[in-house]
Amino acid sequence: MNHPRLFGDHHLQGLSDEERAMVARVRELCRHTLGPKAAELARQDAFAWDHFRLLAREGVVGTAFPRRFGGSDARQRLRIRVIEELGRVCSASASLITGTDLSTRAIVAGASEAMQEQLIPRLCRGELQAAFGLTEPEAGSDVRGLKTVFRRTPDGYRITGRKKFITRASTADWFVIVGRAEDQPSSFLAALVPRDAPGFSIGPDAGKLGWYGVPIASLTLSDVAVPLSHRLGAEGEGFDLAQDALLRARIGHAAMALGRAIGAVEIAAAYVGERSGFGKTLGEHQGVQWMLADMVTSIEAARALLALVAEKYDRGDADVSTYASMAKLQATDLCMKVVTDALQLTGGRGYLQDFPLERFFRDAKLNQIGEGASEVHKTVIGRDWMRRAQSAERNPCLREGPLVDY
Ligand SMILES: Cc1cc2nc3c(=O)[nH]c(=O)nc-3n(C[C@H](O)[C@H](O)[C@H](O)COP(=O)(O)OP(=O)(O)OC[C@H]3O[C@@H](n4cnc5c(N)ncnc54)[C@H](O)[C@@H]3O)c2cc1C
Repeated sequence: MNHPRLFGDHHLQGLSDEERAMVARVRELCRHTLGPKAAELARQDAFAWDHFRLLAREGVVGTAFPRRFGGSDARQRLRIRVIEELGRVCSASASLITGTDLSTRAIVAGASEAMQEQLIPRLCRGELQAAFGLTEPEAGSDVRGLKTVFRRTPDGYRITGRKKFITRASTADWFVIVGRAEDQPSSFLAALVPRDAPGFSIGPDAGKLGWYGVPIASLTLSDVAVPLSHRLGAEGEGFDLAQDALLRARIGHAAMALGRAIGAVEIAAAYVGERSGFGKTLGEHQGVQWMLADMVTSIEAARALLALVAEKYDRGDADVSTYASMAKLQATDLCMKVVTDALQLTGGRGYLQDFPLERFFRDAKLNQIGEGASEVHKTVIGRDWMRRAQSAERNPCLREGPLVDY
């Protein structure tokens, strides 16, 4: 028998029957396969092929792709629920879906019809993989500082540059590479580079703290020839295509972080409900209840904000990007705190590799860094809010006239 979940299903209310069926299917996968196998997967940082193929077979990878190419073009309202479910048990599984957005969105949004027909149906079925090459050794948070250059040739471009921290580099068939025009540095371009392109080399996987199952590596492009047909979008659209991919991936990061925070609370609550100390269960101590209260309140508040972001995305609201920054900032920072507190509540057991919170703790950190560090999102939000403040309605409590004359 299935017990009711610790966190209610209120966020499923706005989904269609078909969408709810997808959530139910993902829950079953998590319950029977992805959850029980998560610890084993997290023992070494090799690409999680079994999970990837399973998620492709079950149509979860396909939620990122248009229907005409075999996908389900799922609303973000559904995708945040699916990614949250995956994040609740297995960061690698969740990141296989957010990573699909990151690595393929520019193809969906900017590839020629012929390239789309060639690639997307196979990406959707998990037969092909793409990777997203934006970050460079000298340009991470400050992506406008990219040094990779596209030199024009009669039939396309030659690309030279270096990329760092690229997820799926060791397994991807195609790479979305973002750089700037050599003769016009303010113009950003994006193009598809096949794995076997002459002059293109992929470094060894880099060891990392967490997110095992989705390795990263560096790329070097030395005068790599790319035909015009492989360009994504028009010249000058490379930066916008990258931002479009990052927007979806940020929403995914927030959902994954919330899922992990939910999972951490479930685990901690189970422990303090069972463990006795000082004459009662730990969960009967007010200090422990207050910790749980803070955790669940912050999680539900962040879920509500993320639901708003998903609605804004699905509607195409112009300010979705700022709200996605807010959701990503809030969800990923709170996930780190919730996982730390949950581990604290499980005492010595929480610190053991055998116990899932050790893995949750290591995985939580990356969500605060990848797809824009928390500090960068604060800058984006603060800057946007100051811009809005310039033209916003004046608060009625203020009298007329310049404020400096108060
Ligand atoms: C596991 C993993 C997977 C990744 N996958 C990919 C991928 O597939 N493709 C890809 O292109 N990239 C990928 N990245 C790169 C990732 O997006 C960058 O690491 C991230 O954007 C931060 O850039 P950086 O590491 O160069 O940090 P830096 O730019 O060096 O910043 C370091 C820190 O400085 C602070 N900081 C930076 N700017 C500001 C500011 N303006 N104000 C205040 N504080 C600031 C922040 O705390 C930040 O964390 C991945 C990274 C990791 C670790």
